[in-house]
Amino acid sequence: MHDIGIDLGTTNILIYVNSKGIVLNEPSIIVKDKKNNKIIAIGNKAEEMLGKTPENVEIIKPMKDGVIADLEQTEKLLKAYLKKAVPRRIMKPNILICHPSGITSVEKTALIEMTERLGAKKVYIEEESKVAALGAGIDIYKPTGSMIVDIGGGKTNIAIMSLGQVVTSNSIKIAGNTFNEDINTYIKDKYKVILGEQTIEELKKEIGTVLKKKIKTKEVTGRGIKSGLPETIIVTNKDIEIALKNDLKKIIDSIKKEMEKTQPELVKDIREKGLILTGGSSLIDGMVEKLRKELKIPVFISDCPLTNVIEGTGYLLKNINLLEY
Ligand code: ADP
Ligand code: MG
Repeated sequence: MHDIGIDLGTTNILIYVNSKGIVLNEPSIIVKDKKNNKIIAIGNKAEEMLGKTPENVEIIKPMKDGVIADLEQTEKLLKAYLKKAVPRRIMKPNILICHPSGITSVEKTALIEMTERLGAKKVYIEEESKVAALGAGIDIYKPTGSMIVDIGGGKTNIAIMSLGQVVTSNSIKIAGNTFNEDINTYIKDKYKVILGEQTIEELKKEIGTVLKKKIKTKEVTGRGIKSGLPETIIVTNKDIEIALKNDLKKIIDSIKKEMEKTQPELVKDIREKGLILTGGSSLIDGMVEKLRKELKIPVFISDCPLTNVIEGTGYLLKNINLLEY
């Protein structure tokens, strides 16, 4: 049976087809013509246009902070992606879609209804953290506590699991997008230069760190606040570390809080086994060491932080008895 798994991320959407694997991995972006409302580009093509679009063009990121901010556009985007990635002969597949921790029941219903409209015979809905843990290869069905921290684009999801269930979880709106905003603000204040979105993203991935060891620098060009003209500056990894200090503190405090809420037996397991990091933003330099240092527990990063959720959907679709419906 060609069942389908969907990871509806703030930054990236991934689609899995049972028996095929990951068939699509593209950014959650739509570019539209403001005048006639027509879609000009989606996904990778739309991303290439960021920062280079003329005035009559609108850039839509329909997911914000891990929730569907614009249901209509999200549905359009998913429809287009399914058309692109899934052969037409798959009529009425079962679809497993994941949601972040802490969405409201209204948001959950909207997500299920949207997935039905996409042509699902049966909709399965699961909490992202649980699915990411499975995708990272954690045996969550054992009677021991496991902790997974998913630092994505719009939010950080923190969850503690045991016996296949999420025991406690929380989602905070601090993640890759806030990292970019805070880098932007810091550079603007220190160098009086405004950088473009893509420049900040490159800067973060190339020299960004949350725990500086060796000095690294990168030359970037932005718009001078006073002159209004292009200006080139040299940014250091220390700049990024300082810019992200507050975000890191919030993430660390939330992890601590989650552990405080948890039964001592499960906390003991986590102290011994450690926590697993996933999500694209866990790839930033120094994240593992920083969390180890601050939390004083073992910290590991999964092998493929950007694809754990979608791999988890694959695991569940192959073991459909694990889905409780
Ligand atoms: P979501 O599930 O919210 O769509 P992802 O798990 O796909 O998020 O992660 C996307 C985020 O990861 C983006 O904010 C991106 O900037 C960030 N990211 C990806 N690779 C790296 C990297 N090497 N260093 C720092 N951040 C990264
Ligand atoms: Mg995600």
